[in-house]
Amino acid sequence: MVIINNNIKKVYKKIKDYNKIVIARHVGPDPDAIASEIALRDSIRLTFPGKDCVAVGLSVSKFKYYGILDKIDNEEYANCLLIVLDVPNLHRVDGIENLKYQEILKIDHHPKEDIAGKFDWTDDTSCSTCQMIAELILKTPLKLDTKIAGNLYLGIVSDSDRFLLPYTTNKTFKIVSNLIAKSKIDFPKLYNYLYDRNLDEARFQGYIAMNMQVTENGLGYLVIPASIIKKYNVDLATPSNLINNFNFIKEVTVWTFITEDIKNKSYKVSIRSHGPVINTTASNYNGGGHKYASGARLTSEEEINNFIKDLDDVCKEYKRASISNIE
Ligand code: AMP
Repeated sequence: MVIINNNIKKVYKKIKDYNKIVIARHVGPDPDAIASEIALRDSIRLTFPGKDCVAVGLSVSKFKYYGILDKIDNEEYANCLLIVLDVPNLHRVDGIENLKYQEILKIDHHPKEDIAGKFDWTDDTSCSTCQMIAELILKTPLKLDTKIAGNLYLGIVSDSDRFLLPYTTNKTFKIVSNLIAKSKIDFPKLYNYLYDRNLDEARFQGYIAMNMQVTENGLGYLVIPASIIKKYNVDLATPSNLINNFNFIKEVTVWTFITEDIKNKSYKVSIRSHGPVINTTASNYNGGGHKYASGARLTSEEEINNFIKDLDDVCKEYKRASISNIE
């Protein structure tokens, strides 16, 4: 028997109720954000050909495999249902400036923040937003095809870091198994779209490994100047794309890359943890995210130093608590 939870029923009803639907996700999208918005759009279009459903936000050329995003005239979509995916804070939603929507509906796996519609579906135990969209499609009359299933699969694999992160559950595996069974996606072939990279990026990963500082408390950190990004011919998003590759280093419990962003006169920060909760520290520095995978923004050298000190204190406390648990 398929058990449909209330949130899924409510989301499906909302989709049925509206003829114009705009789907958005966070700025600086990752595969989970892009894949979830395009998969949901394509499933709604396939199921309800009469509805006008679009997916918005800035296009990212390296993600063009997932599908083409839509450019919209805000006037035409006044009074639409706005579905925001993979983002809990309104100021980080991309592509909805001046859009006068009737209602906002959030589907997200980050801890709740300021977005508050009449109801939202937040599940911070889910490994990815794509897992939630896959569950929605699998448990309602929303249709699935091979392309939609492939996109959802890539979003799940990417955000769970190939099922390595602790948010991966038996539910994740059940959903993935159903996706594969129902759509017959050739999943080994899809990995090229996630993991193919050029030599510049591989060499840049070597630079990070050689230059990351590690404190005695287990904090790994690296401030990456814009000149290094240029020298290695990579971009501002590359350190975030590579950060999961630094998991499972015995001497490192928490690690962070702080990358100079000249255009925005600030530093883009990615943080990962193998133990201590880090999103509380991130939220003190214009950031947020998950317990063990967060991001932040810093604006000065002083702030960088304070941020590193705070994260190091988190590691120190974690180490102290771990030692006293053993004793
Ligand atoms: P990243 O390191 O960029 O992959 O981001 C890790 C997680 O932190 C993702 O879930 C992001 O949505 C979230 N995140 C990144 N930057 C910020 C920020 N400035 N504010 C809030 N959340 C963020």
